[in-house]
Amino acid sequence: MAMEVVPTYDAIIVGGGPAGSSCASVLVKNGVHALLLDRVTFPRVKLCAGWVTPQVWDILELSPKAYPLGLWEWNRVHCHFRGKKYTLASRGYFIRRYEFDDFLLRRSKVDTIQGFNVSEIEKDGEGYWVINKQYRAKYLIGAGGSHCPVARALFPKRAKPPCGTQEKEFEGNLDEIAACRIGEDGEPEILLHDDMRGYSWNVPKSQWLNIGTGTAVAREVMPAWNKARAFFESEGAKGTIPLTSRPMLDKMKGHGYVGFATNHLQSCQSNNVFLVGDALGLAQPLTGEGILPAILSGKLCATAIVEGIPETYRKRLQTHPIISDYQLIDSIKSIISRFAGKKKTTRIRKSRLHSWLVVTVFAALFSGKRLPGSRLVAKMRSFRQ
Ligand SMILES: Cc1cc2nc3c(=O)[nH]c(=O)nc-3n(C[C@H](O)[C@H](O)[C@H](O)COP(=O)(O)OP(=O)(O)OC[C@H]3O[C@@H](n4cnc5c(N)ncnc54)[C@H](O)[C@@H]3O)c2cc1C
Repeated sequence: MAMEVVPTYDAIIVGGGPAGSSCASVLVKNGVHALLLDRVTFPRVKLCAGWVTPQVWDILELSPKAYPLGLWEWNRVHCHFRGKKYTLASRGYFIRRYEFDDFLLRRSKVDTIQGFNVSEIEKDGEGYWVINKQYRAKYLIGAGGSHCPVARALFPKRAKPPCGTQEKEFEGNLDEIAACRIGEDGEPEILLHDDMRGYSWNVPKSQWLNIGTGTAVAREVMPAWNKARAFFESEGAKGTIPLTSRPMLDKMKGHGYVGFATNHLQSCQSNNVFLVGDALGLAQPLTGEGILPAILSGKLCATAIVEGIPETYRKRLQTHPIISDYQLIDSIKSIISRFAGKKKTTRIRKSRLHSWLVVTVFAALFSGKRLPGSRLVAKMRSFRQ
């Protein structure tokens, strides 16, 4: 096919998850001629607990009340850590990704081709990006998640190894789930792993159960999942997973994705190509929350393009309060890892106060609360940049 007849767009977005659809939504609203390509057909299964923090709705400019599909608001989280149970006030929502991503994609009103696997990316003589020799555009947005073909073809490989997950969302018996669950419908039961290198969850969403495990290092996920399953099946008098649902957990699905590291921001754009969401590796460095940074990055990228200053995407990301917090957490994490294993800190790490502090910070982050002092750090950082 001659290049001249290749349909031309202002922007092509590869991937229709939260990052791609939020980017598309802003582009389309502002009259940018955009095309979104995804290799699967929506609605599609995406491994995810479906937990969203309150900021997600603000960034989407959508009231949770206006979200027409399954939504579970929760105000308490039940955490187990080192043999103790804590019930803490916290706030957030659960959705089902199967519905949520499809809803966001439709809402964006972008031209979409589904079942289209992006496998070839070239630049033509006019500087346009050409996809599979079939479509071309001035701007190319890689929103293809952790295996994004745009990231793989045009950006350096990230040094950080992916985390590991095992997860399943399935339908069970409404009454049996209600009789077994630890709290109210939608309230998450979280098992923080003793070594603090991951956590497991058991989330009742009416007749749906979402159960899984995530670990910082992929090879640790199977042993952690086996422990978590045994725990949820024996917790309380009879376990918090109904007997009839347990066989569903024999076959879990796994996925690895790369969490946030400050140096990822360096490779968020080059040559009219942009990476957003998991394609860039933006998930919160402690909790793994990925929907929020996905929609945020998609929106910031599109806004930079719409305003005619696409080169400002990196700065917008770096200086945004949410991503500033992630940078701060990333720095704190590397300081802590330098001291980990020292005798004094081992004693502190075994104390009750330490356990309480860990659970409290986790619950705060889980509900999207900002770090103390983060505003000041963000301000200082914006002066330096
Ligand atoms: C088990 C698990 C649990 C999680 N739980 C949570 C949670 O509760 N809350 C939370 O905030 N985050 C959670 N996350 C993280 C979150 O799911 C991701 O960070 C988020 O989905 C990132 O969105 P995205 O749009 O960047 O990518 P994705 O949602 O992965 O979307 C990428 C899209 O790109 C498409 N694509 C990929 N390759 C190609 C190709 N070659 N051609 C065309 N299209 C392509 C895919 O089909 C897909 O639709 C979880 C992750 C896992 C694995």
